[in-house]
Amino acid sequence: MVRNISITISRRARQVEARYLKYKSKHPECTFCKIGKKGNGNEIIDETKHFWIVTNLFPYELWDGRKVLTHLLVVPKDHFHNIDEMTHSERITLIEILGRYEKRGYSFYGRAPQNASRSMEHQHTHLIKVEELGE
Ligand SMILES: [Zn+2]
Repeated sequence: MVRNISITISRRARQVEARYLKYKSKHPECTFCKIGKKGNGNEIIDETKHFWIVTNLFPYELWDGRKVLTHLLVVPKDHFHNIDEMTHSERITLIEILGRYEKRGYSFYGRAPQNASRSMEHQHTHLIKVEELGE
């Protein structure tokens, strides 16, 4: 018999969530469009012609039921709402980026615009590294 099943799939630590809600209320504009510009706090890990790879300012503590070690975001430099709006070449680049990070132990996740949990309308893909086998 299975007991005590947790339904928490992903979450931020309470303090991080509070910081995130405060930040969102102060910045109603699209902050992803400000990556690479002065005043944006996301640390840029890497970039291609069309994408930023940045740290998530408000990382999850838990994802897929596991402790999160690193939480990055792949953010297109243009304000796309979904992958379908990208050119073929941009889509290929996105998959290449995901493949590069997958090889390094990152899982990836992107919410559809219709998903009520999605808080930014600017398309983005989460790159999440959780504790690994044997840890
Ligand atoms: Zn944007």
